[in-house]
Amino acid sequence: MKTVVYPGTFDPITNGHIDLVERSACLFDRVVVAVVSADSTSKTPLFSVEERTVLAGELFLDRPEVEVVAFDGLLVDFARSMGADAILRGLRAVSDFEFEFQLAGMNRHLAPEIETLFLTPAQQYGYLSSSMVREIACLGGDISPFVEKNVQLALEEKFGRGVQ
Ligand code: ADP
Repeated sequence: MKTVVYPGTFDPITNGHIDLVERSACLFDRVVVAVVSADSTSKTPLFSVEERTVLAGELFLDRPEVEVVAFDGLLVDFARSMGADAILRGLRAVSDFEFEFQLAGMNRHLAPEIETLFLTPAQQYGYLSSSMVREIACLGGDISPFVEKNVQLALEEKFGRGVQ
């Protein structure tokens, strides 16, 4: 039984993230989407950790091999507690590389037995980020090509553009 942990802020989960979950589900028996609590990052998320976990969880209700779990603290401790063989991260443009390389190196130092694996998304998601989706939603743009319906509704509600 091979397990991969896919950590991130997922503020909110986008089609790019979903693409990676699906790709990794072809390679692993179990995929744990690990939603980082705000307390353990320098970011101030738009959605609470509970909201981000529910939004992501709703997308994989029919996929027993995909779990969505909130976590706090050190990623490698969480990954070990899940019995993970690998940590998954996404690489879009070259700009992701430096930070991801540093993170992978530090995680290898802390937990040499856990590999970091990188996957790239389908071409159409190569420029997609949660921050861009939040910004477009805030300005009233159409985010339907980038996120699932539940996420779209949650963003509309956050920015006061809910069902009239
Ligand atoms: P973090 O705050 O940890 O970077 P994110 O939720 O922004 O969390 O992203 C989680 C992971 O998913 C990161 O490795 C990021 O590079 C990757 N990712 C984000 N958006 C995409 C995308 N459109 N395609 C592929 N990977 C992505």
